[in-house]
Amino acid sequence: MRIAVFSTKSYDQEYFEKYYKKYNYTFSFYETALNPDTAKLSADCDVVCVFVNDIVNKLTIKILSKNGIKLIALRCAGYNNVDLDAAAKENIKVVRVPAYSPEAVAEHAMALILTLNRKTHKAYNRVREGNFSLKNLIGFNLHNKTIGVIGTGKIGETFCKIVKGFGCKIVAYDILENEKLVDLGVKYMSLKKVFEQSDIVSLHCPLNKHTKHIVNQTSIASMKDGVMIINTSRGALIKTEDSIEGLKNKKIGYLGIDVYEQEENLFFEDLSEIIIEDDMILRLLSFPNVLITSHQAYFTKEAMDQITITTLDNITAFDNGKDLKNEVK
Ligand code: NAD
Repeated sequence: MRIAVFSTKSYDQEYFEKYYKKYNYTFSFYETALNPDTAKLSADCDVVCVFVNDIVNKLTIKILSKNGIKLIALRCAGYNNVDLDAAAKENIKVVRVPAYSPEAVAEHAMALILTLNRKTHKAYNRVREGNFSLKNLIGFNLHNKTIGVIGTGKIGETFCKIVKGFGCKIVAYDILENEKLVDLGVKYMSLKKVFEQSDIVSLHCPLNKHTKHIVNQTSIASMKDGVMIINTSRGALIKTEDSIEGLKNKKIGYLGIDVYEQEENLFFEDLSEIIIEDDMILRLLSFPNVLITSHQAYFTKEAMDQITITTLDNITAFDNGKDLKNEVK
């Protein structure tokens, strides 16, 4: 089997090379993302391996099908970037890594909260320059604050357990209640009530047609004044221009995002010497109460090990005609 790996960074290749010897496959690593223009690189391959910002739309899939691709192996959990109907029509299977390290993402959400709240990023820079003033560094106790969790699957559940340890009250919304969390004292309620009651809202649901722009002008207006919003899930859960408006009128007190609606043109790349044309990210970066990380919540050694192993196991199961337990339909 020949596998074309798209959006490859040096660390992706490093992890594949750590494990690939026991699998009898040939890899072609491409730095470029998969999209209709680059899909031709899959010629002579059987499988394409893709990540969060590859554009696996109808047109891409048509070209993959012509090239004889039979499997799209996502090395991530979310699959919102793949046109599943188009893949099914072309008889191309899609597999993903449904769970690799919910702790990695949940811990990063907590890191965003603590950094935004206690301003350790600002303190670090100040002290290094000999500025030992505490002016404007005041935070708030997390103890007794209400945290609203949207989506209480693997990552949301882990996040609830972490914030429970900080003595927070937890309210949650999900289309399915998680019994383990009810036992932990998490109170499920309507989405509207979660937005109204939370001091901090943390998003952990997938991006789909029901959740797109779940944080918008109307939902922001219903939140507490000075609310903190955390998004480690998918960028388009938040309508970016509405969050900018919420920050400008001070309704949003803090915004921590690891994902961004238009991230595919920015994230994972060093653009420090390039003129960035995305005015919305530049406006977001101008706020002192906004913290942005570049889709790194998943990025721990443990998660990279698990992502690589599961991806190779998914490909092997396909190669051997076995049941695809991680298939997305
Ligand atoms: P999961 O499938 O275990 O949990 C998702 C939860 O969302 C489920 O409980 C589901 O019922 C719920 N849900 C579905 N539709 C909903 C809706 N309309 N409203 C509210 N809740 C809804 O997934 P997970 O492993 O916990 O991952 C959650 C998301 O995190 C993924 O979809 C992915 O987008 C994102 N993610 C981000 C990173 C990162 O590095 N930033 C890494 C991994 C995953």
